[in-house]
Amino acid sequence: MSKQKIIKLLIGTNNKGKLREIKSLLPKSIKIHSTSEFNLKSPVENGKTFKENSLIKSKYFSKKTGLICLADDSGLEIDFLDKSPGIYSARWGGKQGDFRKAIKRVYRELNKKDKNWKTRKIKARFICALSISYKSKKIICVLGKVEGQISHKPMGKKGFGYDPIFIPLKKNKTFGQMKPSEKYKMDHRYQAFKKIKKFL
Ligand code: IMP
Repeated sequence: MSKQKIIKLLIGTNNKGKLREIKSLLPKSIKIHSTSEFNLKSPVENGKTFKENSLIKSKYFSKKTGLICLADDSGLEIDFLDKSPGIYSARWGGKQGDFRKAIKRVYRELNKKDKNWKTRKIKARFICALSISYKSKKIICVLGKVEGQISHKPMGKKGFGYDPIFIPLKKNKTFGQMKPSEKYKMDHRYQAFKKIKKFL
């Protein structure tokens, strides 16, 4: 399996933002399938780490469809909040996945910890675990990261999720203010992708 290139691949996500980004990173020669073609719900993500949750998804979607599946699990770690929201990043948006709500919660938690948090540099990172599985078998699972800090207020309307509040290292704008082509070249998903490239 490991020496063969993959020609057909299912992207195991129901998140449109992620699907768009993952598609743009994959070689054009691969025939891509999405979960919406199969009308599949997402599995319960009850792993304790990004890697565990990513494997739960890639194995689940592969077993359901019989296709090799690439899935990710990602999120934002904020050091000052003891690495929250971490694997709970999507859940901070509630059942509807409302990112404005998730962002409000970040600022609420920061204010709870320290009313003057804006005088500090709030270090954070996006993490992405990417895995490829075939049925119940893991083919590969890797981790990618991008370091940065939390902005004082949301800025920019591009991207999705926590993009408007994350300023990557050595930049002076948030992911939400960047064109997709600029963000995709440096983010956590891209860093993870570089590590699995040889399989694609
Ligand atoms: P999950 O991997 O489906 O559990 O969801 C991860 C959550 O982390 C997403 O719903 C977003 O809230 C957040 N997230 C992951 N990657 C990004 C990103 O590139 N930009 C902004 N938010 C992200």
